[in-house]
Amino acid sequence: MPSSFTVRRQEIAERIALAAQGSPLAAAGVTLLAVSKGQPERRVEEALAAGQRHFAENRVQEAMARWHARREAFPDLRLHLIGPLQTNKVREALGLFDVIHTVDRASLAEAVAREMDRSGRRPECFVQVNLGREKQKSGAAPEETDRLVAYCRTLGLPVEGLMCIPPQDAPPGPYFALLRRIAQRNGLVKLSMGMSGDFETAVKFGATHVRIGTALFGERVSSEGRGARGK
Ligand SMILES: *Cc1c(COP(=O)(O)O)cnc(C)c1O
Repeated sequence: MPSSFTVRRQEIAERIALAAQGSPLAAAGVTLLAVSKGQPERRVEEALAAGQRHFAENRVQEAMARWHARREAFPDLRLHLIGPLQTNKVREALGLFDVIHTVDRASLAEAVAREMDRSGRRPECFVQVNLGREKQKSGAAPEETDRLVAYCRTLGLPVEGLMCIPPQDAPPGPYFALLRRIAQRNGLVKLSMGMSGDFETAVKFGATHVRIGTALFGERVSSEGRGARGK
């Protein structure tokens, strides 16, 4: 019998395919990131057994505890950091993650570049944009993004795309469209946007990476994982 994770993932994959079908903007391929923050081990095991390999976490410490020991057992695992990164956690983060979605300021870009030079590890980077200029969210302001992307490039960071979490109290479509425009004018092809509540809209606007937690796993059990939307 298929696990509930398998069933939910299948449903989500179908909804992604349908959203892509109806849109001229949709990307050719969408990577589904399973956001495992705050989820019990049992569900993570189920996801791994179902063949899920892209996982996203928003805290370096929690992610280390969960994933460090699993790397060997699952060599094709791809770990994505989607939460704010403090400069003093850069070394640990680069040791674990394959993709960093939250480069959001020059000082962090510099710390990541230094650690890349030191360690030889080069996770793919996304620049996070705070499209709604919300105080409680991290991310570069939209008008600062071109400059930050250019600076990351001069530092040699492998910047591939942009990431956003749009404001909760407004329709997300215009925000996704804006992220796409900023990416295009900067020659970036990847868009990390869309969560459980809005991933179909994100796909219609060209998301290449959707970050889905509760719709895939069920409600989070630990407050540890409240993350960017929590208070
Ligand atoms: C928690 C989180 C998600 C997943 O949220 P769901 O609503 O559970 O799908 C996606 N992106 C970021 C940055 C998050 O912190």
